[in-house]
Amino acid sequence: MTRFCIAIILLLISENCISQHGYWQQKVDYEMDIVFDHEKHQFSGKQNLVYTNHSPDTLNRVFFHLYFNAFQPGSSMDVRSRTISDPDPRIKDRIQTLSESEVGYHKIHSILQDGQPVRYTVEGTLMTIMLNSPLLPNTSCTFHLDFESQVPVQIRRSGRNNSEGVDYTMTQWYPKMAEYDADGWHTDPYVCREFHGVFGTFDVNITLDSQYVVGGTGVLQNPEVTQTKSESRTWRFVAENVHDFAWAADPEFVRSSAFTSNGTELNFYHLKDTTINDNWHRLEEQTVKLFDIMNERFGEYPYPQFSVIQAGDGGMEYPMCTMIAGTGSFGGLVSVTVHEAIHNWYYGVLATNELKYPWMDEGFTTFAQNIVLDLLGKRNSANPHKRSYESYIKHVTNKTEEPLTTHADHYEINASYGVASYSKGCVFLSQLEYILGKDVFYKGMKSYFNEWKFKHPTPTDFKRVMEKTSGLELDWYFEGWIGTTKQIDYSIASVFTEGENTQIVIEKKGGLHLPIEITLQLEEAQETYYIPIERMRGAKKDSTLIHKTAWPWAFPSYSLIVERKLSEIKRIEIDQQQRTADVDLTNNVSPMVDPTESFKADH
Ligand SMILES: [Zn+2]
Repeated sequence: MTRFCIAIILLLISENCISQHGYWQQKVDYEMDIVFDHEKHQFSGKQNLVYTNHSPDTLNRVFFHLYFNAFQPGSSMDVRSRTISDPDPRIKDRIQTLSESEVGYHKIHSILQDGQPVRYTVEGTLMTIMLNSPLLPNTSCTFHLDFESQVPVQIRRSGRNNSEGVDYTMTQWYPKMAEYDADGWHTDPYVCREFHGVFGTFDVNITLDSQYVVGGTGVLQNPEVTQTKSESRTWRFVAENVHDFAWAADPEFVRSSAFTSNGTELNFYHLKDTTINDNWHRLEEQTVKLFDIMNERFGEYPYPQFSVIQAGDGGMEYPMCTMIAGTGSFGGLVSVTVHEAIHNWYYGVLATNELKYPWMDEGFTTFAQNIVLDLLGKRNSANPHKRSYESYIKHVTNKTEEPLTTHADHYEINASYGVASYSKGCVFLSQLEYILGKDVFYKGMKSYFNEWKFKHPTPTDFKRVMEKTSGLELDWYFEGWIGTTKQIDYSIASVFTEGENTQIVIEKKGGLHLPIEITLQLEEAQETYYIPIERMRGAKKDSTLIHKTAWPWAFPSYSLIVERKLSEIKRIEIDQQQRTADVDLTNNVSPMVDPTESFKADH
């Protein structure tokens, strides 16, 4: 390596440190041996976990999630589903009716810390381990767990015998170390919503009857296992830089493969079924295209493989794989694959705490999904996020909105969580693209991916990347759109002659402030004026716009003077492209009924 290269590397490292000063994260290294009894739907497990404390704190206790315990009558997940006013129809009261052989559980037989037994307690889906000796900063300890689990009947996401006949969907299926970060421990009881996990390596041996075909997270280390002639087979998967591990198994799985342009192996597992074989075959090409588009626009998928697996109960993301329903229409199959695969960017690699910021994984994924589906379908839509805008506006009209700062588990109703996370989260990015301009926005999205991959970025981390990329201040946008349920509503209040010019008075009727663009329709041309807001401390770089002075937030209105006679102007429109989620479009347009007359709005 030349001295020049070393200097460059040191510069990159120091720049990275400057942008993420003080950042730390914990590390896990799992080794698991699982022996499966498919007749009882149970398995015994041995887990060897090296846990490294990179925090500046001394830890006296640690926590594990025991997700399968949620599938028992009287669990928090069961009660939440029976008491929320709009329960997920897949759950409803189904947990309450599970028999002993149908529930899920993790029974912990013993836990050792560095070879010595430790005390532990279990409350629902959470286990607390009181450490024998405190875990000091920058030290590791090893936990050895002996456990036995029962796979629940498929209720939601994980379980056995799903509605399409897949035997095992093994997700959230092992005792999983809870995350400890700058916010402290994350010990949320599982009510079947979002996740937050510790990055590290997984080395997993799964032994089960040789009739089964297994697919999941990681890379299969012994592909020859499929040829083994014995009663049982041991499948060994290894995954690095992931925060979860999932797998699925069925005797009827057929596997096919394809490769992305840069060599990532894509694997497809579906049930042998003549009615779906063709759809799954056609899905391969679409998935290759999807990865190529994502790599080019949002950052390069960093793992060697990805599996699309028919399993679960709809679509759910896991590192390096997804479990999706497989019997629907081809369009539905593509759409769900696109969404769940994109989660490997926004969830898998950029592992935000989804419980605190569900809009950062669901909203960002929905945004990229809209772009990818538009390209795959060659639709060339003016606004591929239109449905997300409509869904958000409807939500505002229904008065069911809660701020995006709401914890994912604690939205009053499921619908509020859904619209906030998926639709309002998508509109957040779409408006940010409008605020920054397309080129700067995509440059920022790639920087965000590259700077924060394999980490847990927060909204502030994302904001800082976008600020540094654009040279604009963005706190006002994050505060308003995420922290409040205030709305955007600009209106043309009045238009009148001012000597040789025309004055257009724009009123800010909503509580949220955004830069605005006002398009004038002239006899044979259009021109668009751009009013940045003062707190941006700059403006979007776009030479097609006529730039005006900034609008200070405290001012309820803005007088736009244009060097046009009133008689020249046929129509005035705020946000012609409809990229802002303006809740009332009726007052955005000023038709010049009689171009010689001044106009005074009555709305
Ligand atoms: Zn999603």
